Amino acid sequence: MKTIGLLGGMSWESSALYYRAINEGIRQRLGGHHSARSVLYSVDFEAIKALQYAGQWDEAAALLADAAQNVEKAGADFLLICTNTMHKVADQIQAAISIPIIHLADATAERIKQQGITTVGLLGTRFTMAEDFYKGRLAERHGLQVIVPSPADQDIVHQIIYDELCQGIVREESRRAYLRIIDTMRAAGAQGVIEGCTEIVMLIQQAHTDVPLFDTTAIHAERAVELALAA
Ligand code: GLU
Repeated sequence: MKTIGLLGGMSWESSALYYRAINEGIRQRLGGHHSARSVLYSVDFEAIKALQYAGQWDEAAALLADAAQNVEKAGADFLLICTNTMHKVADQIQAAISIPIIHLADATAERIKQQGITTVGLLGTRFTMAEDFYKGRLAERHGLQVIVPSPADQDIVHQIIYDELCQGIVREESRRAYLRIIDTMRAAGAQGVIEGCTEIVMLIQQAHTDVPLFDTTAIHAERAVELALAA
């Protein structure tokens, strides 16, 4: 079994989901007392958030590159960046290490294409929804059409992620707001919706809507399990 590297803490609420999902995946595949070989480097999210909000992405990239080097030194065979947003600096992190980064947008796009979906809605932080590093990759590398919420709805989605979900707070009112926004994207042509922030699954699960959802946390963790067990 290969060793899974995890760059987490963004937020730790979702890193805990990753940790559970990769261990459950290994147990399901191998049985008995098998569990995932893994190395988790968990950062202080307050520092990352401050750099994001100040637009200091190069500084954030340097901090994460240093953490990633530690994950590599600790024996990981490949790396998951356990947040959609920080894939904005994935290339800078990759340049600092020699193990491969398993890109979250690629793993998610593969799953979407397997289901025959060509137009997809995207929920995430404002950075992920408004900028091109994530939706551009879905479009250019994978040929997907990506729909995002209106700027006003992006603000709502973003605020709920930082003020609630990253702090472990799940509110019914916020769930209703997300479901309304999902329905709006469906009306605009989305055949499915990417939960493009690793905490969104805490708020919205498939049971809440009949729009097919793509939970990036679960998809990334499942890809890691496959790779860990690949020959
Ligand atoms: N976990 C989130 C994501 O997947 C947001 C936290 C962050 O900014 O990294 O984008």
